[in-house]
Amino acid sequence: MAETIKIVGHKNPDNDSIAAAVSYAYLKNALEAKKDAPEANYVACCLGPLPQESATILERTGLPTPELISSVAAGEKVILVDHNELTQAVDGLEEAEVVEVIDHHRISGNVTTGNPILYMNVPVGSTATIVSGLYELFGVEITPAIAEVLLSAIMTDTVITKSPTCTGCDLAQADKLGAIIGKKATDFGLEVFQMRGGDNDLSVEELCTHDSKEFKKGDATYLVAQHETVTLDTAMEREQAYREFLAAQVAEKGYEFALLLVTDIFNEGSRFICEGDVSRVSEAFGIDATKAEWVPGILSRKKQVIPPLS
Ligand code: MN
Ligand code: MN
Repeated sequence: MAETIKIVGHKNPDNDSIAAAVSYAYLKNALEAKKDAPEANYVACCLGPLPQESATILERTGLPTPELISSVAAGEKVILVDHNELTQAVDGLEEAEVVEVIDHHRISGNVTTGNPILYMNVPVGSTATIVSGLYELFGVEITPAIAEVLLSAIMTDTVITKSPTCTGCDLAQADKLGAIIGKKATDFGLEVFQMRGGDNDLSVEELCTHDSKEFKKGDATYLVAQHETVTLDTAMEREQAYREFLAAQVAEKGYEFALLLVTDIFNEGSRFICEGDVSRVSEAFGIDATKAEWVPGILSRKKQVIPPLS
């Protein structure tokens, strides 16, 4: 009997975590189907509600929605995509068996395994880029539906190729996937961002949490959330409400600080809204982090914000 292996991205899933899980499960199952006796059944999972753009793309391509899970059982086999930090991973992971990691983040070193595993971490702009390359490597055809899913995630993770995390590999895979769906990659990227709707369609809590991640430095834990917008002024109208929400998070969870980056993808920069002990943020960026200062050029949390903070 084929055993079930869950493929899961990080908590607070973004489009890349969803796309990587869906498309990697599709690839792994296609490889199993070529065997005389399939050994495994790969199931894409997610740890929270789908981002709007993921839901829209999965619905229109007819691909299955990932299974919503909150924990994994002891001994269960799990593949991590788009993360490798325990704080961002499914509950129960310490007791489960990680059988692969496909990622593009810094190595946390806090997910360990008993056996040698496939651990693929490539410093490119999205996990979808890596998965797209793996289709080539394993000789599995990318269907138009999978191409939409993968390309949408390359576009959201690289902010339509503008992010400093975007590499030549991302551009090459994006061009290839664009050709499969018959669209220019960046035109499709704009379409994907438009699926997200306006800033005011989100509640304060949604805006502050839809892309937030915890990080550790020594004994301290801090939170960095990001909201990407094309209408910065509208997004900043509720600054005071975001501050109250972030301050409550600091009080409740004991964070050193909670930082919300409101990132303007067209004007290419971010406003830093920070509550808690903001001194390390002020020092790292040479700003007064008690004010929502505009920091030009900051688009990537991973490449431009976390390294100076850690
Ligand atoms: Mn992600
Ligand atoms: Mn990613």
